[in-house]
Amino acid sequence: MKMNETDLRLALRYAGVKDPDHSPFQLMLQAMESELEAAIASKSTWRVFQIVKQADQIRLEPGGLILPGKMASTMLADCDQVILAAGTLGHGFDRQSSLFQAQNDPAKALLFDAAGSALIERVLDELEENLHALPEFQNLYFTDRFSCGYGDLPIALQKAIGQLLNLPLRCGITVLDSYMMAPTKSITALIGVSQNPQPARIRGCGYCSLNKSCTYRKKGTTCHGE
Ligand code: SF4
Repeated sequence: MKMNETDLRLALRYAGVKDPDHSPFQLMLQAMESELEAAIASKSTWRVFQIVKQADQIRLEPGGLILPGKMASTMLADCDQVILAAGTLGHGFDRQSSLFQAQNDPAKALLFDAAGSALIERVLDELEENLHALPEFQNLYFTDRFSCGYGDLPIALQKAIGQLLNLPLRCGITVLDSYMMAPTKSITALIGVSQNPQPARIRGCGYCSLNKSCTYRKKGTTCHGE
């Protein structure tokens, strides 16, 4: 998997580089391209669930998974379905990362890890783009992608999502008792599916297609409480 310009900038930001365009770390990261390509074997998977709303709870069917809290109820307020999605860079990335750490090269280890964080986001971005192009999602709208651990959505749901998506078999991902995942560069996410255009609650107003006509902003507020 090759890093593009966006991945590169995001990776430098994750690594804490303040001025990416004038940083020696940019060249260092570019020089790691072949190591990244050799180490990454990305996989992703997804499954659609129906949303059943009962009182203040959201239940997903099939499976009966309850999504408690304000985060899920806000993000999915206008949705009939939710896509559970997951992706990983694979175990090879972790092996190469351990090698860099063992070589006592902290700068390289840090940049490699940051590149992995940027690239796993791209795996999910590409999955989302591909999903959007499927006939069953034509003329429907996706919410921002969100994950367990965001806001008040419990990280503990990660276990159940792992089971519903059959992650060990489909992606080689194990959800550990700590709710972290192995391989480390793995993500699970939820994407609401709606009949109506959805605000960019997580990415912010600058990304939102409703920006020009937004009634929240006209009233001096936002849909995400800022
Ligand atoms: S406040 Fe308006 S413009 Fe900003 S994210 Fe919400 S709907 Fe979009």
